Amino acid sequence: MRTQDYIRLEETYGAHNYKPLDVVITRAEGVWVWDVEGNRYLDCLSAYSAVNQGHCHPRIRQALVEQAGRVTLTSRAFRNDQLPFLEKELCELTGYEMTLLMNSGAESVETALKAARKWGYTVKGVPDGMAEIIVCAGNFHGRTITIVGFSTEPQYREGFGPFTPGFVIIPYGDARALEAAITPNTVAFLVEPIQGEGGVIVPPEGYLRAVRDICTRHHILFIADEIQTGLGRTGRLFACDWESVRPDVLVIGKALSGGFYPVSAVLASREVLGVFRPGDHGSTFGGNPLACAVAREALRVVVEERLPERADELGRYFLGRLRRIESSLIREVRGKGLLIGVELVPEAGGARRYCEALKERGVLCKDTHEHTIRFAPPLVITREEIDWALERIEAVLT
Ligand SMILES: *Cc1c(COP(=O)(O)O)cnc(C)c1O
Repeated sequence: MRTQDYIRLEETYGAHNYKPLDVVITRAEGVWVWDVEGNRYLDCLSAYSAVNQGHCHPRIRQALVEQAGRVTLTSRAFRNDQLPFLEKELCELTGYEMTLLMNSGAESVETALKAARKWGYTVKGVPDGMAEIIVCAGNFHGRTITIVGFSTEPQYREGFGPFTPGFVIIPYGDARALEAAITPNTVAFLVEPIQGEGGVIVPPEGYLRAVRDICTRHHILFIADEIQTGLGRTGRLFACDWESVRPDVLVIGKALSGGFYPVSAVLASREVLGVFRPGDHGSTFGGNPLACAVAREALRVVVEERLPERADELGRYFLGRLRRIESSLIREVRGKGLLIGVELVPEAGGARRYCEALKERGVLCKDTHEHTIRFAPPLVITREEIDWALERIEAVLT
């Protein structure tokens, strides 16, 4: 079968909720992927930062295979011998007291929202049914009805209402707007430390510190969605570490499994996650032993291969080289670590065509927010491989 045959099959039988680049990947290793025609590409998306550790990392693969031969799913009706270790290791790595394991990122965001609401009613004393949660314009937190209900992207919402009430939207990167939006019924502020899907938007220096301060003063929970920015991507273990702030609730996913399996988690204090009583919340697959074995190894790889440090050093290099490209097509180059956005001028006619041109030259990346190309390769990339990509990026953009 050729590329077009796979595409035709998928177009016939699959729902058309994505418009992927026309490359059919059949194999991957580290930063490289191969298509069904035998062409090799450098992956500069990392499955939206889910494969920070590189594709098919041998250690994570080994953990998956070994666990798959023992036990994969018990459901939480029974206990398993992997979950307690992942819980302990996650808390020790991050400094939080408790964690709750889920599968997709959106599920963990929903879990954090439920925890925040119940904390608001049972700890803060907000009148029943009145809890408000503040979110930011340009956010991306997933695709459930509740979450798209507070998206500002019309396409994510249109046709999917009615939506969950109780959310207030403020501009991103504006600490004063946060303070002004708080009412006695506010229980939490949900924010991405860098907006990934929103176009790699880096907030002003000091924003996260100001958010921390405001949330503390008003007794509301600071919920950081680090599903994309966490686990090394931005050059620190978490993007909030750049401003030395600790959110009350941390949501992670994506690279928590190194791309092998959907694993996500909410981390918080006992005061917050302690609001859940048996039967309040759950998931058949959440915290299953296969997921836990994979996540334990994926976390060890992040730490032992010093992926945050690599992202910091190589990100500075990549960003610096991109900034030096002289091209009338480029409006701005921004990012942190290996989460980089190259925003093109409107006259460039959208980022998609440049992603297609890059694909033809062996670099896979994704347009985000119409005019921005995101470069987010696996954090195991080498300087030589970045140079290889830069040669092609430069050729396409000049
Ligand atoms: C990807 C992402 C999500 C949603 O994760 P899924 O696993 O796709 O549900 C939520 N928040 C952020 C910041 C993300 O990047």
